[in-house]
Amino acid sequence: MSRTVRIVPTLLISLTLTACGGGVHGAPGGSGVHDPYFPMMGNGGYDVTHYDLTLAYEPAGRHLTGTAVITARATKDLSAFDLDLKGLVVAGVTVQGHDARWNRAGQELTVRPPTDLHRGETFRTTVRYSGTPETITDPDGSKEGWLPTADGALALGEPTGSMAWFPGNHHPSDKASYDITVTVPQGLQALSNGELTHETTKDGHTTFAWHTAQPMASYVAMVAIGHYSVRQLPTKEGPPVHVAVDPTQDQAAAEVVGRIPEIVRWETSLFGPYPFPSTGAIVAREGDSGYALETQTRPVFPGAPGLQTVVHELAHQWYGDSVTPKSWADMWLNEGFATYTEWLWQEDHGGDTAQQIFDALYKGNYYDNPADDKAIWAYPPAKPSSAAHISDSPVYERGAMVLHKIRQTVGDTAFFRILRGWAAAHRYGNADTADFTAYVRKQAPDKDFGVIWRDWLYGEGKPGHE
Ligand SMILES: [Zn+2]
Repeated sequence: MSRTVRIVPTLLISLTLTACGGGVHGAPGGSGVHDPYFPMMGNGGYDVTHYDLTLAYEPAGRHLTGTAVITARATKDLSAFDLDLKGLVVAGVTVQGHDARWNRAGQELTVRPPTDLHRGETFRTTVRYSGTPETITDPDGSKEGWLPTADGALALGEPTGSMAWFPGNHHPSDKASYDITVTVPQGLQALSNGELTHETTKDGHTTFAWHTAQPMASYVAMVAIGHYSVRQLPTKEGPPVHVAVDPTQDQAAAEVVGRIPEIVRWETSLFGPYPFPSTGAIVAREGDSGYALETQTRPVFPGAPGLQTVVHELAHQWYGDSVTPKSWADMWLNEGFATYTEWLWQEDHGGDTAQQIFDALYKGNYYDNPADDKAIWAYPPAKPSSAAHISDSPVYERGAMVLHKIRQTVGDTAFFRILRGWAAAHRYGNADTADFTAYVRKQAPDKDFGVIWRDWLYGEGKPGHE
């Protein structure tokens, strides 16, 4: 994600429904996974393996009709389980093809299957729903969820927005494969993550079917509906590059979008194999969202992006999308890496070196506004002060400074080995800050990282210079 302005935090409140079936041994799965910043996000008791979403959207009436078929494995005996879904009207829920009782309270859709689910059992839940999906205002004031646009809509999910358009286990710790099929009025495009498997037009509507085989966190699932010029860029090597550009942005975006194959090649040379079968970009109109987002395989940009923003969002394909945080406390593992990639790009392309950027940030003469220079020290990267601040500069720039401190300590050869190794060790998985510090220590056992962890990663205030 690129950074946004913050305003007043909102509080998400929900209730847990207690199931009490006679003679059953299962218990309710629970309404959250104890995320330190978004405690109601995600649900306990199961692990989703696949989402099959069949959606139809009429932009004129802003009406969405959806069927979500969610394949999951019970991680304990369950009498009931929760899905996160905000707004919309649920028409019915089945579990393993049988009607299930369900109840809604806030963002929790609690489902009680006719018979208990057993630990280890794989089960399929179908939720039919419809309505006008909500735009959600984040604790930091930015907008996500379903964002209506001039000619369609944009669905973006970091950190909580995906519950506005499909029911699910909406926490980064539960990744799954996806099929997302979207039907829209003929003449519009419906873009999503992964690869297009088919496209058919019938009775004035076109259906686009997208497939994501690699595990994906729901916050980087995406749909973009509207008039887009869609094309595949020529590449000599690397993954196929699919770009979709709003016609009003075509000219302004042409140069930077044309450099995506080069950027992916350069990042591959630093980080190791690109994690997904395809890449690209979606360039919507300015204002369609307030920020760019690293949606998996295909980042979304509101208007023609700058080169650094494209470098940043594509770096997230390795750090964020393939290696995903275990909780929102680990956001710096996404943003520190993507920000440091911007510094590396500048260093490699005739701009300031990472050391020069680090020094300017440390001395407090990096930004035009002195308040921004000070803001970096507001809290430590691995301990954001609140949900409203997970997208602030201590996570981004100071997170990048942590990486630079590691580089200073181990030298370039070991540092780039660590960047590549980290992406490989947790490819398609989840990791947290403790995993990262343990990994770095293991890669350079003769070095002392104590001060970096204590002062730069977890320490309050501005660390003293070493
Ligand atoms: Zn980012």
